[in-house]
Amino acid sequence: MTDFTATRAMFDLPEGVIYLDGNSLGPLPRAVSARVARTITDEWGQMVITGWNRAGWMDLPTRVGDRVGRLIGAPAGSVIMGDTLSIKVYQALASALELRAGRSVILSDTGNFPSDLYMADGLCRTLGPDYQLKTMAPEAVEDAIDDTIAVLMITEVDYRTGRKHDMARLIAKAHAHGALVVWDLAHSAGAIPVDVTAADADFAVGCSYKYLNSGPGGPAFIYVAPRLADKVRPALSGWLGHEAPFAFDLDYRPGAGIERMRVGTPPILQLVALDAALDVWDRVDMNDLRARSLELQQIFIDSVAQRCPELVLASPTEGAARGSQVSFHHAEGYAIIQALIAEGVIGDFRAPDILRFGFTPLYLTPEDVARAADILCAIMHNRTWDRPEFKTRAKVT
Ligand SMILES: *Cc1c(COP(=O)(O)O)cnc(C)c1O
Repeated sequence: MTDFTATRAMFDLPEGVIYLDGNSLGPLPRAVSARVARTITDEWGQMVITGWNRAGWMDLPTRVGDRVGRLIGAPAGSVIMGDTLSIKVYQALASALELRAGRSVILSDTGNFPSDLYMADGLCRTLGPDYQLKTMAPEAVEDAIDDTIAVLMITEVDYRTGRKHDMARLIAKAHAHGALVVWDLAHSAGAIPVDVTAADADFAVGCSYKYLNSGPGGPAFIYVAPRLADKVRPALSGWLGHEAPFAFDLDYRPGAGIERMRVGTPPILQLVALDAALDVWDRVDMNDLRARSLELQQIFIDSVAQRCPELVLASPTEGAARGSQVSFHHAEGYAIIQALIAEGVIGDFRAPDILRFGFTPLYLTPEDVARAADILCAIMHNRTWDRPEFKTRAKVT
């Protein structure tokens, strides 16, 4: 059994805060500060450029990628870290499209994160007028898979509602129609059990600063199925994905397997932060995490339904159909979230009217969650949110 008291002790949580936003930016694991400080002083400070070899910096994207891979069912050598998720979405899509020459439709759904859709649209425009991004309602996407689709691009867990797609089922249908699938695991990796191997995924991407706690701007990951890794041509053909970067050849030759998905110089300080942050997962069984997450979500849902039903559940009622977050609709969602943050409970708001709460068993207890629901419902009863200072929108919501 996973000891969640022990995992909680591994985080440096701000005093007096109940943090229900680890789905957007994970909190600071205690081990990170000292590790990053050591990398700065002992490695960068003392080794300077020799750190690339002596401190193993150049191997970090694959070494850390393997650790992330273990959380998503990917074998060693099939995941690499780097860039941001938007870039990795583009890279995976471009590679997948090229493997389906003769087809030109990317299929996605309207519940996808806008950046994924924007990147797909931008890629289609670059490739020319034949290429097209088609988006369907999330419930209609499965029926829209046919022999015209080149690539299905799906975010497993909806960033707004927490609704979870059936990954294995969509992949099976896409493959039966000759399409490839790019999975975005932004709200899955570290949140729910994932097995890209069992589901027969082609490509998967995700970020590390949400449930994996690498800190703001932490690198993204990309998985390419080993059966495809030596076949794909990386559209972002940067020098570090070259077979021999330090030969400085004028012609690009892709590196072996997942190595070719590197682009440029890796962000070493953020990779070290992620490496330290990943230690917590050595103690976690994903099935325990899932069970505990559903338990925490249910406490919150029941309490809100009982005491402030004016908040309308936006997430599926069935736990199995959700990721690790719960959302509600309310027209004054923005102000309510601001009032909540002022009282030490951090959730977030997603336009147009979603109040969103992430449940991360690594550092949240049932008592925290019950207390957060108490505070939320008190704000609703007392209309504490109805003040001008809670209605001014900040740049980041
Ligand atoms: C968080 C998130 C992103 C963010 O992309 P970045 O390039 O890291 O800013 C993209 N897609 C999805 C589905 C996300 O949840």
